[in-house]
Amino acid sequence: MKTPTPLSRRTFLNTLGASAITLPALTDVLGRPITTAGNQDRKLGIALVGLGSYSKNQLAPALQQTKHCRLAGIVTGTPAKAEEWMQKYNIPKANVYDYKTFDRIADNKDIDVIYVVLPNSMHAEFVIRAAQAGKHVICEKPMAITEKDCQSMIDACKKANKQLAIGYRLHYEPFTKEVMRLGQEKVFGQVKFIESSDAFRIGDPTQWRMKKSMAGGGPLMDVGIYAVQGARYVTGEEPVSVTAQFSPKTEPQKFKDVEETLFWQFRFPSGAVSNSTTSYTAGVERLYASCEKGWFELSPAFGYGPLKGRTSKGPIEQPVVNHQAMHMDGVCKDLLDGKTLPGHITGEEGKRDVRLLQAIYRAAETGKTISL
Ligand code: NAD
Repeated sequence: MKTPTPLSRRTFLNTLGASAITLPALTDVLGRPITTAGNQDRKLGIALVGLGSYSKNQLAPALQQTKHCRLAGIVTGTPAKAEEWMQKYNIPKANVYDYKTFDRIADNKDIDVIYVVLPNSMHAEFVIRAAQAGKHVICEKPMAITEKDCQSMIDACKKANKQLAIGYRLHYEPFTKEVMRLGQEKVFGQVKFIESSDAFRIGDPTQWRMKKSMAGGGPLMDVGIYAVQGARYVTGEEPVSVTAQFSPKTEPQKFKDVEETLFWQFRFPSGAVSNSTTSYTAGVERLYASCEKGWFELSPAFGYGPLKGRTSKGPIEQPVVNHQAMHMDGVCKDLLDGKTLPGHITGEEGKRDVRLLQAIYRAAETGKTISL
């Protein structure tokens, strides 16, 4: 028999939707007060959906280091992968699903959170199914390939009374948090202009990232989103307009379906402007902010780290962490504590980015300044 856990009280409070209501202290069968302190020891069970590169090389290893969550289950369409993962991570067969049996996860008490790590076009379906199964959800970036899908995902989680986080790992990363502070608190005065770019040379031309129907676009959807985020979190503002330009394709055969390189410019309410590049043909990874009284930068700025930063006053010193472990622990700690997730990592934030990505494409296609 399971002993009553502190979560029972929390769940009760949440169900009431009234954490402010004062309740008489709960006691256990021996009359001892039940506090929420014991929750510190509980780890939420995460099920990864899609066992591709990010799950295999980053998330599963990170889940061996996390304090507030653990790898409890997997969802895969490939039986050989299921066998390999069960052995490697000691996952019971009862916690292994394929895309058809996925919805049965609703009955699995070991799994609290479903982490969707599939190609972009599949995020919406699996987030909605996860919410309908009564689980909290983490969804990889970009949240979806249309703003409409983002809204359906938000609505499904709200209806199920479950929380939705986006895989914005950098929001828990110390170098990134420091440049958010430097920009938003105007430590070097008002930010005047930003260069925020993320690009790499892509390999296999047959992968889903090169198919518009699955990826929603090219490098903008994949890594350009980090450059969008960078400009937004340094200013702490939402852009008011955007202009954008596609570069001519140097490998038209390879880039039949998606853009090869794209440039865009945001204008922010404070007057700050940003200029960005994303590409699948060559690399750049840099976030630079020039301010009234100095400058700061991260380079590399968006990858798995270690990130590196400096300012006009000297190097930025911060601890080097595992981004994925920090992110999942941060989300799961809040879930365990019954807190509402911070707005800057939720579905609403994911939707804001997808809206901007779509506006960038519209600006590049029309050659016009798009008001936001
Ligand atoms: P991947 O191609 O390595 O893995 C995709 C997985 O989806 C594979 O296991 C594949 O079998 C499965 N899949 C199921 N149905 C599929 C279909 N119809 N077509 C293709 N694959 C199918 O991709 P990835 O690099 O792991 O990326 C997955 C998601 O994670 C993407 O949304 C990506 O943007 C995101 N991602 C985020 C980060 C980050 O730093 N936050 C890093 C890498 C990837």
